[in-house]
Amino acid sequence: MLSVEEVAGAAAGCVRCSIRKNTPEVVFGKGSPDARIMVVLEAPDADAAKEGKPISGEAGELLYNIFAASHIKGGDVYVTNLVKCNPPEERTPTEEEIGSCKTWLDLEIAAVQPDYLILMGVAPLRAFFGEDAAIQEFRGKWHSFGEIKVLCTYQPKTLLKKPEYKRMVWEDFKMLMRDLGILKP
Ligand code: SF4
Repeated sequence: MLSVEEVAGAAAGCVRCSIRKNTPEVVFGKGSPDARIMVVLEAPDADAAKEGKPISGEAGELLYNIFAASHIKGGDVYVTNLVKCNPPEERTPTEEEIGSCKTWLDLEIAAVQPDYLILMGVAPLRAFFGEDAAIQEFRGKWHSFGEIKVLCTYQPKTLLKKPEYKRMVWEDFKMLMRDLGILKP
């Protein structure tokens, strides 16, 4: 089985889809390769892609504040994107782009072997649970991907536009904390 570093090295030269032209480099996940929790976002935005990070700016700050409030430490979490390059004009990645890129995420999951997958945003949710999956129906309960427990919720970018959704995301992270034994049931 490949290590995270080996998968990242192989993905660095990927030109499988056209959005590679829009991004300075393929942006792989960041965090502990031994993390119990893997967070999957949609795609890096232009600023994150320039910085070579899966998420940056206000959205990144919000995400890391959620981790801090949830008592999730740096060593516990690995953050990545469903699609590793920045889609033009920050549009949602197409099905074709997702199909081209999903192999990298599958290899990343196999390398990290997390206990928990947190799918943030509709594109990651649908990549795992089908085109008709809706966050409002999937959030607030546990799902599974093989042996991995899966939680689906809104992405930080959405929370910046709709702060009223923060309460639901916090409820979802409280579920995770209860499962981790950080919060009493
Ligand atoms: S988005 Fe994914 S599949 Fe497309 S070029 Fe970038 S790494 Fe390759």
